[in-house]
Amino acid sequence: MDMTTAKANVLVLYTGGTIGMCPSEQGYQPVPGYLGQRIAGSPQFVGHDLPTFDLIECSPLLDSANMQHSDWNAMTETLAEHYEHYDGFVILHGTDTMAFSASALSFMLEGLNKAVIFTGSQIPLAENRSDAQENLLATLMLLNRYHDRLKGVFLYFNHELMLGNRCTKISADSYQAFSSPNFPPIAKVGIHMNVHWELIEQLDRHSGSDLKPQYIQDSRVGVLKLFPGFDAQWIAPLLNEELDGLILECYGAGNAPGQNTALINALSQAATAGIIIVAVTQPLYGTADLSLYATGQALEKAGVISGYDMTTEAAFTKLKYVLSKEQDAEAIRNQMSTPIRTELTVPGSVRPDIVKQAQSALD
Ligand code: ASP
Repeated sequence: MDMTTAKANVLVLYTGGTIGMCPSEQGYQPVPGYLGQRIAGSPQFVGHDLPTFDLIECSPLLDSANMQHSDWNAMTETLAEHYEHYDGFVILHGTDTMAFSASALSFMLEGLNKAVIFTGSQIPLAENRSDAQENLLATLMLLNRYHDRLKGVFLYFNHELMLGNRCTKISADSYQAFSSPNFPPIAKVGIHMNVHWELIEQLDRHSGSDLKPQYIQDSRVGVLKLFPGFDAQWIAPLLNEELDGLILECYGAGNAPGQNTALINALSQAATAGIIIVAVTQPLYGTADLSLYATGQALEKAGVISGYDMTTEAAFTKLKYVLSKEQDAEAIRNQMSTPIRTELTVPGSVRPDIVKQAQSALD
């Protein structure tokens, strides 16, 4: 086989984050041009199983703690600008908000027909014991080998390729920084690359065949975690006036203190006033289905919507995306409870036998 013609052509977009940071007296910080020099000076980044790739740096380079929706718009714009010229895309990103950005882009890149893989590292590429090389090399190899079959927004970290909108950061100091608690990884990369193609065929896609980027408008969406002794007065001003939407992190299967009538009334008034309130669950695993318990039904009656097993990151970015497209509150509510990019599981959305099979095959 002619290895030169088999190579994919990949765009690597460095947005900032630890992976490309430079050690300095003030601690690690992103320095323009530094990552490109490190990659150019590393023999590992050339090989017959790697794609050819170009590196673009965002300006300014950001610690991802500073990112907001305008940065998701900028990433989307860059991808759209270069979409036709590359077979696949890597987004190098800080780990702190990578799950938010990956979720956001999974919704925003309507009609995406190629792979966009987010990755980063816990230790900079510049350090000897870094996870950066493995994460970036495996991401590039996956794209070189499978770019014609992988479609969607993914996150690669510590030997696993996961759906971008199913991930959450689970560790600040382990190489296993991310998990996809409610959906099996799409691939595991060890000695072999095991990709679960049947699962990939089940993924929901936007129906368009051309890339149609949807940009996020400014909206006021908040996240609120319930805790014992919650006083409704603390949120009344917010709910009454300032919010467009709220992600409510409930207990267990979507429970809230049903006896806290002040809280339930405040939520009910807010929902009546048109604020979209979506329940997700605080535990890492499981689903917020408000129909199960009386304490959940109290929320449902108040107008809160089940967000099922969406991560907070997916629910938050999806709500901002849907608010940017839709005006009608009922249409927004419906979309929030319906899977559009495999970001949530409801009966009939993904075949459970295939999910189970993928889970056990990849364990
Ligand atoms: N604070 C860094 C960031 O998110 C952490 C990292 O990259 O892992 O940009």
